[in-house]
Amino acid sequence: MHRTLTDTYGPKPLVARRDPMHELISTILSQRTNWRDEDAAYQELVALGGEPLSWDRIAELPVEQVAHAIRRSNYPESKAPRIQATLKAICAERGSYDLSFLATLPPQEGLKWLTNLPGVGVKTASLVLLFNFSLPLFPVDTHVHRITSRVGAIPAMGEAAAHKALLRLLPPDPPLLYELHVNLLSHGQQVCTFSRPRCGKCVLRERCDAYARYGDRVPSFAETGVGKGKAKG
Ligand code: SF4
Repeated sequence: MHRTLTDTYGPKPLVARRDPMHELISTILSQRTNWRDEDAAYQELVALGGEPLSWDRIAELPVEQVAHAIRRSNYPESKAPRIQATLKAICAERGSYDLSFLATLPPQEGLKWLTNLPGVGVKTASLVLLFNFSLPLFPVDTHVHRITSRVGAIPAMGEAAAHKALLRLLPPDPPLLYELHVNLLSHGQQVCTFSRPRCGKCVLRERCDAYARYGDRVPSFAETGVGKGKAKG
């Protein structure tokens, strides 16, 4: 799958695209939100922090003001208090917002530290650790979960459980994990979509369990009942 997707969507070198705090907060904002709205919400949020950016200031603002700033992101009323609680917890634990210490921890310890934050789930934590610190973790977002379930790489299970299951199958190779994650995202957005996968155009169909079973009539992912009961992202 990795080789086929790389041949199709191109190589994706692992280079951190933004600083760890930006990645962490943006990933919380990205849940159920497209990239454009996530970025707009982030820009309005950090504008509240002034110049230079003060995360302390954002943490102490009235929650309604934070929710208004991130209104382009879906569910701003629940994300605003999560973001503020996460900021307060980071500062209480570390005395600053410098997350560079995570690079020195074993991956599972870094994962544990991040997921102990009130607004951070295993996907967000895995993404920050892989994208920013090149640690061998595999973030499972909705696209990764859907495709790996349909092709039969993992049995029916929720997203959180899929992190462990997929990590067991994959080599501890951060550039490969990054490239596979990013190319699965492209494949999920363009071909293996949620409700009407375009199996006739899919480079994975010869090894796909769902295609073998349903042919061109692979059902919507909602109809399979996989992944219900989501926790924090
Ligand atoms: Fe998704 Fe269809 Fe491709 Fe299988 S064959 S991975 S269901 S698009």
